[in-house]
Amino acid sequence: MQTDNDTNTTSEKNPVTVYDVVIIGAGPAGASAAIYTSRAELRTLVIDKGLTAGALGITNKIANYPGLTEEISGEELLDRIRGQARSFGAEFISDKVIGADVLSETKTIYGNQGVYNGHAVIIATGSMGRGTRVKGEDELLGRGVSYCATCDAAFFRAQDVAVTGNSDEAIEEALFLTRFVNRVHFLCPTPELKAPQHLVDEIKANEKVTLYPAASLKEIIGQEKVEAVRYALRGQPEQTLAVTGAFIYLQGGKPITDFLNGQLELNENGCLRVDEEYHTAVPGVYAVGDLLCSHVKQAVVAAADGAVAAMAVEKTLRGRKQVTVDWSK
Ligand SMILES: Cc1cc2nc3c(=O)[nH]c(=O)nc-3n(C[C@H](O)[C@H](O)[C@H](O)COP(=O)(O)OP(=O)(O)OC[C@H]3O[C@@H](n4cnc5c(N)ncnc54)[C@H](O)[C@@H]3O)c2cc1C
Repeated sequence: MQTDNDTNTTSEKNPVTVYDVVIIGAGPAGASAAIYTSRAELRTLVIDKGLTAGALGITNKIANYPGLTEEISGEELLDRIRGQARSFGAEFISDKVIGADVLSETKTIYGNQGVYNGHAVIIATGSMGRGTRVKGEDELLGRGVSYCATCDAAFFRAQDVAVTGNSDEAIEEALFLTRFVNRVHFLCPTPELKAPQHLVDEIKANEKVTLYPAASLKEIIGQEKVEAVRYALRGQPEQTLAVTGAFIYLQGGKPITDFLNGQLELNENGCLRVDEEYHTAVPGVYAVGDLLCSHVKQAVVAAADGAVAAMAVEKTLRGRKQVTVDWSK
C-alpha cells in the first residue's frame, strides 16, 4: 500500500522507509500474518533473530498441521510459510529486536543491526524467553556477560570467551565472535546442534571454536568482571573454564516481551492484554501466538492468530469498518 509518508526523509541522502506493518517474529504466528498483510498489498517487514530460535523452529517433527500429510520438521514448515509470505512481497530480515517505541503514531523498532519503522506492529515473538538466570549472570551483566556478540565482540579482542545456546542465533553470534577473540568455547545444552546444516558445518569447521555437546552452564564466576564459567557435561562432574566473556543465548518458557520496556499493559501473569482481533490497548499494536499465555500452544492456532491480526491491521490502515477479503486474487 502506498501512503504519503511511506518514505520519511531525515536527510536527502538517508531516507527512512516506513513500512505499513512491521512484524516482530517469524514463527507460524508472525509469518502467517505476513502472508495476509503482503497478500493485501501492505508493505510488510518481518524481523526474526533466527530460523531455529522459536518453538516451531526447534520442533523435530510436526504431523498435525492441517494439509500436511507427511511428517516434516518444524524448520521446514517454517521455511514454507516464510517462503509463501515472501512470494507475496513480504520482506524478511535477520535481526534481534532489543527495543521499541510503540506509543508514537509511527512505530520504531530497534534491532541489534538496524532501526525499522511501521504504521502498525504485530508482535509474534513466542514464549521461548528465559525466566531463571544462571548464578552470577545478573551480577556480571555488562561486565563480561552479554546477550549480543554483534554489539560487544570487539571488547573481547584476543581473549577467550564462552557462548551457550542451541539455535542459529547462538551459532551466528559465536561465528561473529571468532573474528575478534582468541577462542570461543561453545557450550551446547543438547547432544546435537539444532540449526540449519550450513551453520552446523561452519561452526564445526572453525578452528577458533571448541564445541562442548550436552554441556550445561552452571555459574558465571568473577569479582569485578567475568573470570571463568562453571559447566557440566551430561553425567560428569562440574568443570571450570577460564574466560573473560560469557555470551548467553539460552531459551526458556516465558513470553518474550522484554524489548517493550513496559509500554504495553500486562495481566497478572505477565501476558499482554489483547481484544478479539489481537489488538493491544495501544493503537496500531497487535500481539499474536504463543506470546499470549491464554493461547493454546499449537502451530495452527498461532497461524490463525496471525491471520486474524493481519486482517485487522489491513482494515485499520485502510480505514474500513468490516474485515474484507478480495476473493478474486
Ligand atoms: C518441542 C516442541 C514441539 C512442538 N510440537 C508441536 C506439534 O507437533 N504441533 C503443533 O501444532 N505445535 C507444536 N508445538 C507448539 C508450536 O511450535 C507453537 O505453538 C508455535 O510455534 C507458536 O508460534 P509463535 O509464532 O507464536 O512462536 P514461535 O514459534 O516461538 O516463534 C517466535 C519467533 O519469534 C522470534 N523472536 C523471538 N524473540 C525475538 C526478538 N527479540 N527479535 C526477533 N525475533 C524474535 C523467534 O526467533 C521465533 O522465530 C511444539 C512446541 C515445542 C517447543
